[in-house]
Order: sequence, then structure tokens, then C-alpha cells
Amino acid sequence: RAKSLGGNNYQIFQRNMATEASETLSLEGEIRRAFEEQEYTLYLQPKVDMEGHIQGFESLIRWDHPERGILPPNEFIPAMESLGMIEAMDNFVLEASCRQLKVLEKLYQDVTIAVNISSTHFTDRNFISYLKSCLDRYPIDPSRLELEITETLLMENMSIGLEVIEQIKELGVRIAIDDFGTGYSSLSYLKKLPVDTLKIDREFIKDIPDSESDMQISSVIIFLAKQLNFKVVAEGVETSEQLVFLKANQCDLAQGFYFSKPIPAHQALLLLESERLHQ
Ligand code: C2E
Ligand code: MG
Ligand code: MG
Ligand code: MG
Repeated sequence: RAKSLGGNNYQIFQRNMATEASETLSLEGEIRRAFEEQEYTLYLQPKVDMEGHIQGFESLIRWDHPERGILPPNEFIPAMESLGMIEAMDNFVLEASCRQLKVLEKLYQDVTIAVNISSTHFTDRNFISYLKSCLDRYPIDPSRLELEITETLLMENMSIGLEVIEQIKELGVRIAIDDFGTGYSSLSYLKKLPVDTLKIDREFIKDIPDSESDMQISSVIIFLAKQLNFKVVAEGVETSEQLVFLKANQCDLAQGFYFSKPIPAHQALLLLESERLHQ
């Protein structure tokens, strides 16, 4: 009996492996097809100052899938990373963002756009040359472009990370540490890093004002950022209470559903336009 059960389990196991393998295969095929069919589309989420005025945007990619609708990055970015296709995605977003900055430049020279760069891509040799070629093709003030990298990436490979950061800084492009507080940055490294911005992870914002400890952590991060001359952005702001708290603690910028969800790039530009008209 045990033997036959084992046999059945083995069959089930094999069948699951086969399904998984074919699902991975079809996702890979779909991801490739989507590049050809131009199904990836740039969404922007506003970053606002403590008065709620738009200072810039973060580029967040979406997949406009013909059958499944708009898909968020967590449904395809992990697959792209393991398939070695994230470089193509990030480069697409980088290029599209530089193009938007070029468009914006005519009307609003002060607006910034931040682009997420995957950790595997950031330390890749070709990355800096692609960045340079983008800045050549879209001549913009490079300080309007910010690259968001995660804390974990930096800590995992500090020497390469630091080298790349220095090369990026030489180009005049800004750098933000994303999801700050969730990794394990050492404070002595943080002081040495030539980065411009710290983004406080949503994890520390979401339970404000209920969580006393999250309020303490957030205010300490803001204070630390100020002491080290970084700009500080709170991500995932959803309520007016959270904004009041951040303002009282002199946070520089906020980003979150309270102001706007990520929206298609053309809509984001309209939002900026109407805001500036009424300012
Ligand atoms: P992230 O860079 O930390 O981006 C912030 C995420 O929080 C976004 O999720 C955004 O939609 C979401 N968010 C913003 N405000 C709120 C809020 O008030 N409440 C809640 N619940 N969520 C909020 P999204 O767009 O799903 O992106 C998830 C992650 O995928 C990003 O985290 C980033 O790490 C990655 N990602 C997005 N676009 C790209 C890209 O072009 N390249 C790479 N390498 N990664 C990307
Ligand atoms: Mg980000
Ligand atoms: Mg983030
Ligand atoms: Mg985050």
C-alpha cells in the first residue's frame, strides 16, 4: 500500500514539476512577446512636498496584458530577474523616463523623475554606458534624473556598488536609497555614500499614528537623513494623519495613495499641468 501511495505521490510530483516548467516557459515566451508588442507601459506616481505640491515622479512599470489587463511589477519582475531580462526592462523605463524629462523641460525645469534599477543590473558593466547613451540622446539636466537602488544591493557588494555610484555621480545623476530601513545598512557606510536621498519604506509609515514605535523609527530616520544632508522621502503615505506627522518631523517629500496612485505617464503630466495652473 505504502508503495503504491509513494508511486502516486511521485506521479503527482512529476506532474507539478511539468506544469511549473511549462508555466515558466510560457511566461518567458509572453515576457518576450510583450517587449515586441510594446505591452509594457510607463506609469508615474507623484512625489509631493509637505504642502502637497508635485516635485517629481517615480517611474513604475506596468504590463498592459491583452488578456489579463494591467499587471503590477511583482507579477513579472521576479521572473525577468531570474531570466536575465530585467536589464531590458530597466533600460526601457530609463529611456522612457528621460524622454518624459525632455518633454517636461520645456515647461517645468524643476521636476524630477526617479527610476528603479534592479540590483543585478546596477552592478553590470553595460549599465553606465546605457545611462550615458540615454543622456546623450535626451540632453537634459542630469540632476533631474534620480536612480533608486535598494539598501540590500549596496550592502551585498559594497565595493562594486560604491564604484558604480561614484561613476553615476560624476554624470550628475542623483541616487536614492529605496526601501530604507528594511535592509541592514551600517551607519558608517551610510555616511560615506555619495547618495542624495533616503526613501523610508512603507512598512514604517503604514501604521502611523497607531504605532508608537513606527513613529519613533520614522522620526529617527528623518533626523538621521537631515544630519547627513540627504533628502528624505516617505513612501506609502495613505492618510492625512501620516502627512501631519511627517510635516511635524520635517520630512522633505511624500509619496502615496493619499496624493495619487501610479497613473499612466500622460495622465501624470496632465495632473502636473492642472496643479501648476492653479498654484
Ligand atoms: P518601490 O520602488 O518601493 O515602489 C513603491 C511601490 O509602492 C509601488 O508598487 C507603488 O505603487 C506602491 N505604493 C505607492 N504608494 C503606496 C501607498 O500609499 N500604499 C500602498 N499600499 N502602496 C503604495 P509597484 O508599482 O507595484 O512596484 C513594486 C516594486 O516593483 C517597486 O517598489 C520596485 O522595487 C519594483 N519596480 C517597479 N518598477 C520597476 C522598474 O521599472 N524596474 C525595476 N527594476 N523595478 C521596478
Ligand atoms: Mg522605488
Ligand atoms: Mg520604495
Ligand atoms: Mg517599497
